[in-house]
Amino acid sequence: MNDDQLLRYSRHILLPEIDVEGQQHIVDARVLVIGAGGLGSPAAMYLASAGVGTLVLADDDDVDLTNLQRQILHTHESVGQAKVMSGKATLARINPEVEVVPLKTRLKGQALEEQVALADVVLDCCDNFETRHAVNRACFKHRKPLVSGAAIRFDGQLYVFDLREGEGPCYHCLFPEAEDVETVRCATMGVFAPITGIIGASQAAEALKLLAGCGTSLAGRLLLLDGLNMDWRSIGLAKDPSCAVCGVNV
Ligand SMILES: [Zn+2]
Repeated sequence: MNDDQLLRYSRHILLPEIDVEGQQHIVDARVLVIGAGGLGSPAAMYLASAGVGTLVLADDDDVDLTNLQRQILHTHESVGQAKVMSGKATLARINPEVEVVPLKTRLKGQALEEQVALADVVLDCCDNFETRHAVNRACFKHRKPLVSGAAIRFDGQLYVFDLREGEGPCYHCLFPEAEDVETVRCATMGVFAPITGIIGASQAAEALKLLAGCGTSLAGRLLLLDGLNMDWRSIGLAKDPSCAVCGVNV
């Protein structure tokens, strides 16, 4: 790091758990953020401000007026623009040292695999189960840690699947694809704006901890937020031995 970087990241470097070495890991890192909406906005902003070297932002959507209530990466002026381009502009204003790679696409198939393989940590900030399962599969295949979040109404969920060793549970252990889970989207259900901020910022926190190699990650636990009563619960997660993605017969 140069002198400017040492100054810019000094409040991280002052933390003995991060120090120069941990910050250097963050600066050297490439993080994939899938979704530039309610969760992806605060997550990407904190990852950029904290100095993640390369931030890949994937989203196929354009900014809509109804997004602005919670998707703080975007401004009134960016309505109609691609979310990834609006996001890139905002992140460049926060920290021009970060290389932001905008991908205006719903990542899947080979393209998803390639991006996951290149990433050090993957953040799932999307709003649909199909993508969540595809991202989980790719992360398991390429042994990448996955930080996943969800927010709807006044409720939030946060989980980390540390798939580097291939031992802990994966997203599919928790939400098997075969179960007919109704897709509940903000578009129809509503969402309390700060819930996406709380969960998205927490995703950034877990990702930065993984990169810096400090603390204990959330892996193995599910964190549930009841924002209406501001009540947090943590539930232990177990690996499903018969999981179609990470189970013993795979
Ligand atoms: Zn599994």
